[in-house]
Amino acid sequence: MRDIEYDPTTETAYECLNCGTVISVSTSPGRCPDCDGSLRNREMPFE
Ligand SMILES: [Zn+2]
Repeated sequence: MRDIEYDPTTETAYECLNCGTVISVSTSPGRCPDCDGSLRNREMPFE
């Protein structure tokens, strides 16, 4: 595990690739809380 600096006041939106649920968290959520699917960082440009 690497020690990455996070600003605890900054929330990042993640979108579930499986069910489309969007959640905002300040740390990486890892998995969708609804369906356990993969999450994508919506604030990252993604082509
Ligand atoms: Zn999901």
